Amino acid sequence: MTQVFTHDGKTPSDENLRREESLDETSQEETPVPHVRIAILGAGFAGLGMAIQLKRHGYDDFVVLERAMDVGGTWRDNTYPGCACDIPSHLYSFSFAPNPNWSRVYSPWREIQGYLRNCATRFGILPHIRWNSELLDASWNEDEARWYITTAQGKLSADIFILGNGPLNEPSLPAIPGIENFEGTLFHSSRWRHDYDLTGKRVAVIGTGASAIQFVPHIQPLVEQLCLFQRTPPWIVPRLDHTIPHWQRRMFRLLPLTQRLVRAKMYWQREITVLGLVYRSRIMENAAKIAQEHRERQIADPELRAKLTPHYAMGCKRILVSDDFYPALTRPNVEVITEHIREVRAHSIVTIDGEEREIDTIICGTGFHVTDTRLPNYIHGRNGQTLAASWQPDPTAYLGTAVAGFPNMFLLIGPNTGLGHNSMVYMIESQIAYLLDCLRIMERQNAEVVEVHPEVQEAFDVEMQKRMQGTVWVSGCASWYLDANGRNTTIWPGFTFDFRRRTRHFDAQRYALVPHTSCATRATSSSLRR
Ligand code: NAP
Repeated sequence: MTQVFTHDGKTPSDENLRREESLDETSQEETPVPHVRIAILGAGFAGLGMAIQLKRHGYDDFVVLERAMDVGGTWRDNTYPGCACDIPSHLYSFSFAPNPNWSRVYSPWREIQGYLRNCATRFGILPHIRWNSELLDASWNEDEARWYITTAQGKLSADIFILGNGPLNEPSLPAIPGIENFEGTLFHSSRWRHDYDLTGKRVAVIGTGASAIQFVPHIQPLVEQLCLFQRTPPWIVPRLDHTIPHWQRRMFRLLPLTQRLVRAKMYWQREITVLGLVYRSRIMENAAKIAQEHRERQIADPELRAKLTPHYAMGCKRILVSDDFYPALTRPNVEVITEHIREVRAHSIVTIDGEEREIDTIICGTGFHVTDTRLPNYIHGRNGQTLAASWQPDPTAYLGTAVAGFPNMFLLIGPNTGLGHNSMVYMIESQIAYLLDCLRIMERQNAEVVEVHPEVQEAFDVEMQKRMQGTVWVSGCASWYLDANGRNTTIWPGFTFDFRRRTRHFDAQRYALVPHTSCATRATSSSLRR
């Protein structure tokens, strides 16, 4: 068994693309293409969860295509100082693989990645993983009713293709005039330069999102000067993190029910905020008051506090949790700059008021491409149409899972399945259960191809946008939940248990199921035509 756990933090895209271009296409055509029943893209929470559940349900003919050399997805890529999940670990983990040994309420990335590595090993997934296999192309072959998938490691075909690549893996760098001419060191929070010593440097941090508020308190004591460029102040509530005492971990090991109860409590505490986010109940007013008191307690300087006070509805962007971000900003070597950046020069940043600050290092905590990722350009469905083209003007998928024109292809964490308030693992597990049921029904009905009806997908999209009206997410702030047309195609606009209810059973009546025989007939007639 090859166990490859050598994280180098690199994405192999360019190198792989060059290697792919240089492949001799003729010789490739002659080599038989290996075939699997199911190909899963990505070995993060979604892809691994899918693989584990397939294995647990008796499937063995599947591969996991992973672009890097380690599992973990976002918990492999994000290694910045202070990186931790802001959803408690007892909740942010698989329901079928509880970990009684979490060290803290909010475990650091290393522990979460360790958990995922452990799950991959324990459930026998490692032999199924094809490492360094960045997706270059996936095309539906109508005649053979299968996907042809090209990765950096070569070609394979699969009856079913499941995208578990996640929405937060393509760093978004700010398009600021002159940034390409910066002669200091520049990097994104999800590509942290651990080889670069920040001690004594004049550092600019761009962004005040979930990532920046975690790493700023860790780098502030090291640097000579920290210029924090803030475009929009986030809503921040107390984090109240602490180590989980040993007696409690022991109790979870001995009495697993107690851990399940803790998990359930955490789930419902978070789920109740949907009342505020969706139905705009007074819950959000109470939460805003907690955030305000937190600010007042932690920031004595009224001028600084005013800069850090949000002026949009709480919850419109992700609500952040931190106990050390505000205190770090009160230190003498930190300046919070709210004037927008006009340009970046070779060794400085100039704001619109004309002020120029000398800078050695720029760290972009500027988030990810979410609604505009490149991957959909590489996926070709019926008639060669790309997923990107099919998602014009906006990305949509029935239950965030199935797209018309892309038979036998499914998404995990597809459009309108994201959450701002609860654990994404819950949504992922709901989708996995739905797909397992889909596979069962395909077998029972001897179906070779399954494809959602376009009108079902459309009706779901209409429902999503209708339900989005009046929610906090469309209350006027700019956020990565919105696509280029201002539609919220990211968030699930309701209770997560409602999503689970709707994905409990595969609703075959909303899909076209093509039996094996018709596919064979279709393949024969099309080859006769040739
Ligand atoms: P983010 O939440 O999208 O925040 C990006 C920040 O950069 C925002 O403050 C944004 O300002 C700013 N920004 C972007 N472009 C800019 C520009 N051109 N000039 C100036 N400022 C700019 O990104 P993130 O912090 O990396 O987090 C992304 C998501 O990852 C989170 O929402 C969350 O879902 C996930 N995450 C989760 C955890 C966790 O603990 N579970 C931790 C980190 C990240 P505006 O607000 O004005 O756009």
